[in-house]
Amino acid sequence: PRAQLPLRCWAEIDLAALERNLRRIRAALPVHMRYVAVVKADAYGHGLHQVAARLMHAGADLFAVATLAEAAALRELGPGWPILLLSPLVPDEDEYIPRYDVAVTVSSLDEVHRFDRAGSHAKRPIDVHLKIDTGMGRSGVWHTAATAVYQAIHDAAHLRLVGIYTHYASPDDDPAFTSEQRQRFRRALASFGELDTTHLLIHADNSAGLETIERAGPFNAVRVGLLQFGISPRRGSLLDDVLPEPVFSFRTRVGLVKHLPAGTSISYGQTYRLTQDSRVAILTAGYGDGITRSLSNRGEVLIGGQRCRVLGRVTMDQTIVDVTHLEAVASGDEVVLIGRQGDAEIKVVEFSAWAESIPWETLCSVTKRVPRLYR
Ligand code: PLP
Repeated sequence: PRAQLPLRCWAEIDLAALERNLRRIRAALPVHMRYVAVVKADAYGHGLHQVAARLMHAGADLFAVATLAEAAALRELGPGWPILLLSPLVPDEDEYIPRYDVAVTVSSLDEVHRFDRAGSHAKRPIDVHLKIDTGMGRSGVWHTAATAVYQAIHDAAHLRLVGIYTHYASPDDDPAFTSEQRQRFRRALASFGELDTTHLLIHADNSAGLETIERAGPFNAVRVGLLQFGISPRRGSLLDDVLPEPVFSFRTRVGLVKHLPAGTSISYGQTYRLTQDSRVAILTAGYGDGITRSLSNRGEVLIGGQRCRVLGRVTMDQTIVDVTHLEAVASGDEVVLIGRQGDAEIKVVEFSAWAESIPWETLCSVTKRVPRLYR
């Protein structure tokens, strides 16, 4: 058997914090709101199995994933768990919908016919959520054409409508457009006539939308991704009262410490030159782990509870930081890329800003090489 090697770059996932986050979000929502836990992309890089099991234990009602492979993985874990697939399927995937007993998103008449055929072949009805495009321009039927698709689902012998939803394009920074999208969604719903909301899930809000969530019907479910992982989609959010507790931390170690004279250039392309005699630390992780190359010359890390600047370009397996100002540093010391160390903290949001990215992408960018440790 392979030895259990010491860690050199790893992520820590605080499942207890995840559970507390879900419970707090739930407590802040109207009691009738169902909680759709968005766990696509390996639960935002946290690990699908561990996260889904904990969220279900904490009271999630339904899981949303992006791909059939993710649905299949969840199905193994929870034979009875309700699963919604958010992304469009390609036709040769259709036959697997009944096998994994997953509810699918319908955005077109073509999909109504395809999924109906798949249900007919399997001799069992397929659950569908009708997706309405109210301004995202991604999946969903355009809102003014939704009635025909709604009707076709009703007429299909092997489809069962279990939900209707939309998705906001700018819930975090354009309240006027979000409100326009809500109006369009409401108008489309109204055009369908009387809706049985005891059996239908009507959902629109994601993490950012929760701030302005409509407590009134017909909305009866929310789709929560980022927020349950303890990250507020924007600063100064009302949601800061509710939350969030960070779930994810990203750590590595010092491999080598060395002194270099003023004038030395650092790393590929010589993009940084030392202005004074310096001490640098070579970290045991690079972009091959998820320290994206855009952190070159701009990112910071924590060592001994103090911030240290990234010098020069991040490389695949090694990153160089300035430790001249630290009292003591040695090979083996723990380095925080995202998370807390002593009184200092680097949040996912800050790391993402250095990377000119967003928290969602940062979390998805931590690679397979990085073991996830659960506590
Ligand atoms: N709903 C849909 C359709 C999504 O694509 C996503 C995530 O991208 C979410 C909900 C969850 O969004 P958030 O992570 O901002 O809560």
